[in-house]
Amino acid sequence: MPNVLQKAYKECQRFKKRCKRYALTLLRIFFNSYHQHSKMPLSRAYLNELSNLVLITGQNCSLKCKNCANFSPYLAKTMPFYPYEEICQDLQAITEECRILHLGIQGGEFFLHPNALQILEYIANNPRIQQVTIATNATIIPKDSLLAIIKQSNKIAVRLSDYGEVNYKSAQKLESVLIAHDISHYTHRYAHGDSQWRDCGGKELTRLKDKVVQKIFEECIFGKYCLSMENGFISRCSRGVIAHLVQGFSLGANDGILVRPNAKRAFATYNAQTYAHYSSGGGDMNKNYLPSFDFPTLKRFLESPAPIEACYYCYGTSGKTIPPGVQLTPEEVKSIANANQS
Ligand code: SF4
Repeated sequence: MPNVLQKAYKECQRFKKRCKRYALTLLRIFFNSYHQHSKMPLSRAYLNELSNLVLITGQNCSLKCKNCANFSPYLAKTMPFYPYEEICQDLQAITEECRILHLGIQGGEFFLHPNALQILEYIANNPRIQQVTIATNATIIPKDSLLAIIKQSNKIAVRLSDYGEVNYKSAQKLESVLIAHDISHYTHRYAHGDSQWRDCGGKELTRLKDKVVQKIFEECIFGKYCLSMENGFISRCSRGVIAHLVQGFSLGANDGILVRPNAKRAFATYNAQTYAHYSSGGGDMNKNYLPSFDFPTLKRFLESPAPIEACYYCYGTSGKTIPPGVQLTPEEVKSIANANQS
């Protein structure tokens, strides 16, 4: 019996030593990793997480969709591509505050961006951005250098939008290229998964009533899952960051957050009226209007979902069902271009 007890005691001691060794190893890994995030408080390094962010890199698109929810045909000429330096600096500012668990990259058409490679290189090398999806209308075969960085990154997938007959052939071609490069990809069938769009409403949509807006917003899938950043402005969806420029309403103070508010940008984030007020010395809009980005501000924005001004001019995902990607006629494209000039 004493022998058995002795054996058990020795076994316990060995187990204790092993546990101590494991605990020390874990602590070492933890502190080494903390050291790599040097000078970063623990909350920023480990706790702050943003589950999803859609990054819009410009409005230029290879298609001219009549019902584009993001008004790309109206903006393609005025804001075709945001400078990649600004895009990367905005992502840097965000990832200094929190990790991004999933980043969706969009255009217009992202593969048209002249600095797509630099953007992808930055994203691939930023360990604080964990998973990435590039949304494409599948009309463009990316260059080999882009395919290579997507593959090497081990964290970027490609999402091909299903535009039915509009992109059927080109999507098949792109898919075969992605398969050949062993790149993870899938076909996107939109918010309701039925390969149909919902009509969010056009440029001319007049302001909806409070009650209607509240219901649309509560049901809006974009508003729940598509937090978006365009030109350094974060808002609830990819329409919310841009609609004011096309539909001509003023942003509200609760409509979003400005990343790097003092940055000199190639394009104004504000609508013409607000921007004119700002540039004529009517107050520092960066400080007094939209709040500046930090993680607690973003968290508060996410945790208190409420319609933004753009929702008053939008049917969200409750609009009527329409086929995806119906193209504007050349005359319609021309008339948009003329209206933009006047
Ligand atoms: S209803 Fe609001 S949140 Fe939904 S898509 Fe329209 S603007 Fe975006």
